[in-house]
Amino acid sequence: MSEHTLENPKDFVLAGKAIFTVENEKTGNRFTYKVKQAENKDDGPSKVWFVSVLNGPDNGSNYAYIGTIFGNNFYVPTLDFRLTKKSTVTKDAQSFKVFSWMLKHNLILPPFVKVHHEGRCGRCGRRLTVPESIKNGLGPECAGKTSTQKWSEAAEASKKFTT
Ligand SMILES: [Zn+2]
Repeated sequence: MSEHTLENPKDFVLAGKAIFTVENEKTGNRFTYKVKQAENKDDGPSKVWFVSVLNGPDNGSNYAYIGTIFGNNFYVPTLDFRLTKKSTVTKDAQSFKVFSWMLKHNLILPPFVKVHHEGRCGRCGRRLTVPESIKNGLGPECAGKTSTQKWSEAAEASKKFTT
């Protein structure tokens, strides 16, 4: 399995169907997460993502649910990561702490924290082949269509509306 380091983890992580490994080069710690966006039929300003962590040797099936990201974009986009009843970890678990820390920093991470994807599109899961797509972790059909990209478009549009 080859890995690719993401330049802009935020769009990828919240693209809808993302699998990635977060690596802290100072401590050597690493976690592989899966972040799946809930079906959003009305495509409104509220969005929800379910976060799981890889906890076994089978990277196809050994994922355990740890918490939910609640996203709101009514005025300013906010992301809130919380434990829910079905979480398989506590707030003291390192996998939960690392993900909370990433969200608290709005997925803008220091240089020693690397986010790698596995060569598949973060939005649709298809294998990436174009070098430009591998850089962003998003295929040509999905680039520009992720939640965060739509949010920034909406923010731009509302600016125009109010001025
Ligand atoms: Zn795609």
